[in-house]
Amino acid sequence: MSTNRLDLANLERAELETALDERGHKRFHARQIFQWVYRRGVTDVGAMTDLSRDLRAALADEFTVTTPTVVARERSTDGTEKFLLQLADGRQIESVFIPDTPSMTFCLSTQVGCAMACAFCLTGKMGLVRNLTAGEIAGQVRVLAGALGLRDRKFNIVLMGMGEPLHNYDETMRALRILSDEHGFAMSPRRMTLSTVGVLPALDRMAHERIMPNLAISLHAPTDTLRGELVPLNRKYGVAEIIDACKRFPQTKRSRITFEYVLLAGVNDAPDDARKLAKLLSGVKSKVNLIPLNAAPGIPFEPPSDAVIDRFAQILAERGLVVSVRKSRGRDIRAACGQLMVEGQKRPPGQVLAAAINENLR
Ligand code: SAH
Repeated sequence: MSTNRLDLANLERAELETALDERGHKRFHARQIFQWVYRRGVTDVGAMTDLSRDLRAALADEFTVTTPTVVARERSTDGTEKFLLQLADGRQIESVFIPDTPSMTFCLSTQVGCAMACAFCLTGKMGLVRNLTAGEIAGQVRVLAGALGLRDRKFNIVLMGMGEPLHNYDETMRALRILSDEHGFAMSPRRMTLSTVGVLPALDRMAHERIMPNLAISLHAPTDTLRGELVPLNRKYGVAEIIDACKRFPQTKRSRITFEYVLLAGVNDAPDDARKLAKLLSGVKSKVNLIPLNAAPGIPFEPPSDAVIDRFAQILAERGLVVSVRKSRGRDIRAACGQLMVEGQKRPPGQVLAAAINENLR
């Protein structure tokens, strides 16, 4: 068996066609292979029975399909399920299944850890360990859809797990193209949402992509002073620049950019913050998603009371904004927003990339 087999989990169909061609096979087999891998969950080339025996033998020698393995699976009382997945190099990530929102939603990771170090996020405490490959990002969908029996169902994906998707731009976009392939999962980009702290050059680049997911911006504060405290990257790309980028972001008639706003008691939840936020978003086709903080040990904040949350939402609504308050799902299994952290993979402080970034931004 050849030792340097090509991992077709990382390939878009057009790339697989080229790879087949280069090895003397017919390009159209890429379609069959995509159907086996994505629609039926078959990764053993030997079992792809509509390919000839000889071809299967050749392909098994030339290609491999790497798939994350499920190490643990936990189910919340609300039906949310958290999957701990192991990658080929032994690193671990988490993916979350959130049922009935009203659709089925998979929350995917794009990095092992994260370099952004947002003040209230547990993943940020890990620092960045490494980027995920496209195969590992799309592979989370293969694994969850298979484990949950949802291969033939419509589902959504949100890139809101571990990591900053626009800090791993190429692999993330490649994964979205793989997931949208008509011979694979055939996902509509409307069922995909990319959430970002606002990595500006990447955000502008995304405006030219063929497969364009819905956009969610993790804003969390209406001013640079406050946002800079919560989201270190804001010291590089400020609030006004991000809003400008949103204004020029191509949108369909019906789409709106979601602005996520984690509510922290006594920090960013004052009526004046709500008024400033409404003013800031006045020229943007937006909706605001208020996320009461999911508290966790080591996170120095608390969520506001329901009364404060309601008042904040009210002020935005009165000013004509579309507002929702995110219901926390899976908190009992630490699967809620910002609670994903793989123990034992935390890096010693000296190595935390995020810390280095903070230094640069100061
Ligand atoms: N890096 C991307 C995507 C991952 S986080 C981003 O920041 O957008 C997905 C969402 O969960 C973000 O809006 C993030 O700010 C939010 N979040 C992080 N920690 C949280 C916490 N402790 N409680 C509630 N939401 C949190």
